Amino acid sequence: MSVTSSNLVNLAAKYMILKESRRSLRGQCPFHEDAGESLMISPDKNIFKCFGCGKEGGPAEFKFAIEQLNKA
Ligand SMILES: [Zn+2]
Repeated sequence: MSVTSSNLVNLAAKYMILKESRRSLRGQCPFHEDAGESLMISPDKNIFKCFGCGKEGGPAEFKFAIEQLNKA
């Protein structure tokens, strides 16, 4: 399965705890020091957006950002 066709929710669930919030999922952003639950995932659109650090995109962007974290 290629990265672009992968399911963002399944991918993100490996790195963060996701909580259901209406039609979206929220969780503590793994990309910045998040005191709350700034990262939101839209399962319908298969995209994420963090209201704390502004990171956003699809499964490919999420995976890329995780890989950048692990290098640091
Ligand atoms: Zn963030």
